[in-house]
Amino acid sequence: MNKKIIIAIDGHSSCGKSTVARQVAHALQYNYVDSGSMYRAVTLFALRNKLIINGLVDSNRLVEMLPLISISFKYNPEEQKSDTYLNGENVEKEIRGLEVSNNVSLVAVVKEVRQAMVKIQQEMGREKGIVMDGRDIGTVVYPQAELKIFMTTSPQIRAQRRYDELVGKGEAVSFDEILKNVEERDFIDQNREESPLRKASDAVVLDNGNMSRNEQLDWVLSKVNEILNDN
Ligand code: C5P
Repeated sequence: MNKKIIIAIDGHSSCGKSTVARQVAHALQYNYVDSGSMYRAVTLFALRNKLIINGLVDSNRLVEMLPLISISFKYNPEEQKSDTYLNGENVEKEIRGLEVSNNVSLVAVVKEVRQAMVKIQQEMGREKGIVMDGRDIGTVVYPQAELKIFMTTSPQIRAQRRYDELVGKGEAVSFDEILKNVEERDFIDQNREESPLRKASDAVVLDNGNMSRNEQLDWVLSKVNEILNDN
């Protein structure tokens, strides 16, 4: 298979986009980029620099400080996935915690933050052969992507998965708190002015509520094969 395509996976929070994206990238030997981790890293930077106080982001200062933020990824062979680095520091664990999760959607509404992230993301896909997941990948980052997938499933199923994941990592969290976070993030992501979460008109919908990991992988690979065989 010589022809390489761009696969854009968008959808609601915690519906397993990154699991599918990683599986597909592995199967096709493509690069995988988790765009949410970039917004999470910017949020961690904002929290550390006291730019978010009581749910309010000092967006002017954050925008001023954007040139001081460098985000990169490095492959972690033990975990078999890439870790996110903020200014050279591995922040993979910290950006998945509840404090960042509770604030990331506020940072992701800032237009200049989005513009800076989109620019980096577009650069990453220049050679194609990439799977990227997020909220605006098929609509803004790669409107020309050959395959666009919009993933979703119910907020309860998504909250349960996130709860199981965090408890598995030893975090003390409550299910209700997670469900509230999932629903709040959906609301902010869908209603923000700048690049709101939308299904691209040419995206195919994947509801994985009743699908196993293998079934969802097969589903996506069959779409990839249709596209590659068409050309
Ligand atoms: O995908 P993940 O849940 O880690 O993303 C964290 C947050 O970053 C989302 O809730 C959303 O607010 C924001 N995001 C975004 N655009 C993207 C990826 C993530 O606005 N492409």
